[in-house]
Amino acid sequence: MLNIVLFGPPGSGKGTQSEKVIEKYGLMHISTGDLLREEVAAQTELGKQAKAIMDTGELVSDKIVIGMIRNKIEEHQDGPGFIFDGFPRTVDQARELRKALTDYDERVGVMISLEVAREELVKRLLKRGKETGRSDDKLETINNRIDVYNRQTIPVTYYYDKMHKHAAVEGSGSVNKIFDRIVEVIAKVKS
Ligand code: ADP
Repeated sequence: MLNIVLFGPPGSGKGTQSEKVIEKYGLMHISTGDLLREEVAAQTELGKQAKAIMDTGELVSDKIVIGMIRNKIEEHQDGPGFIFDGFPRTVDQARELRKALTDYDERVGVMISLEVAREELVKRLLKRGKETGRSDDKLETINNRIDVYNRQTIPVTYYYDKMHKHAAVEGSGSVNKIFDRIVEVIAKVKS
């Protein structure tokens, strides 16, 4: 299996680049944001609780997202591998991911972090908000999401640094150019 964590702040292009990685390597996409939005759309009890939190820009509890991830890993344990998008977002989630994969004798091959300046992130997210109406893509929530990322999520990079699995990639420029940089990193892990 090839397991990749695609990491970066909100608006850094994880979703866009995940699609291209999947197309090239045939991995299973696991986006905790998408999974949570599915729960919101289905108006489940979990979805109702999650929406209130997501609209403020804070993180949904580790317990909820780890449960969702474990289910997905179990469902696709015989596949070619996973691309984790928007997860892990806390060091506890990173530890739990390691445990969950170890249960299947698997591990994260590389954690790729997309680096984009704050002003650019805000610009991209405001544009997406206008185009899609996504309820958390409004200025106040965007600013809090970036603050939450800096406070709670950045420490995840140190976790993967320690294991020599963290590769930083410049996340500005054209979509294809950024993808080329990602492919270069993946090629090293695969060889
Ligand atoms: P973005 O990366 O643009 O913020 P996502 O779709 O990944 O968008 O996440 C949207 C929201 O869903 C987050 O602000 C957070 O409230 C919640 N969420 C997504 N993934 C996680 C996670 N791994 N842990 C906790 N909350 C999460």
